[in-house]
Amino acid sequence: MNIVLASSNKHKVQEINEIVKKFSPHLSVEFVLPPEGFDPIENGSTFEENSYIKALAAWKISHTWSLADDSGLCIDALNGNPGIYSARYAQTPALRIQRVLNELDNVPTEKRNAHFTCAMTLINPSGEVEFKYQGKCAGSIINEAKGVNGFGYDPIFLPKGYSKTMAELTEDEKNKISHRSVALREVLRYLNTLNFN
Ligand code: IMP
Repeated sequence: MNIVLASSNKHKVQEINEIVKKFSPHLSVEFVLPPEGFDPIENGSTFEENSYIKALAAWKISHTWSLADDSGLCIDALNGNPGIYSARYAQTPALRIQRVLNELDNVPTEKRNAHFTCAMTLINPSGEVEFKYQGKCAGSIINEAKGVNGFGYDPIFLPKGYSKTMAELTEDEKNKISHRSVALREVLRYLNTLNFN
């Protein structure tokens, strides 16, 4: 069975299908890009609202199972920022990292706690919310960017209990602990109860 992933990002679809293969190999579900015309206005005030807006937009043009995720980095010392503004905190990924580091300039190590969060919303073919879940990955923000893997804020995020940044982990290692993987595994657990196979 196909489920529309409410995103125009091919890599995200691939990443999510990889996680399905790894954690739910017996589930016959494949995530696919939305049909043409997917262009939601993400004007919610929370991750959960934005993921609902995206899932509904995908459902409106597909009328089939649709899943959306909305994620970002929340830093305690910055009152939860960049939060829902993570993708637009500055113009480029490097400038976004620089802005965060500048804003945390005088904040000591023990006060640099942060977490990645990922809200997922699954809408059924009737257009109703069937399942939702918010996954988190706790950690802290280091003083300088390290590592080349991953994307976004990965080079400055040290997952709790690790001595490497998210950008120094392999894709497999990141998929074990990431906020997206935590949320997706709950969605897969739910889908498994529906007996699609
Ligand atoms: P999206 O909702 O998955 O598109 O994520 C929004 C923004 O949050 C991204 O553009 C990144 O800046 C940040 N972000 C989300 N997930 C991650 C991650 O796994 N690593 C680093 N940054 C992330």
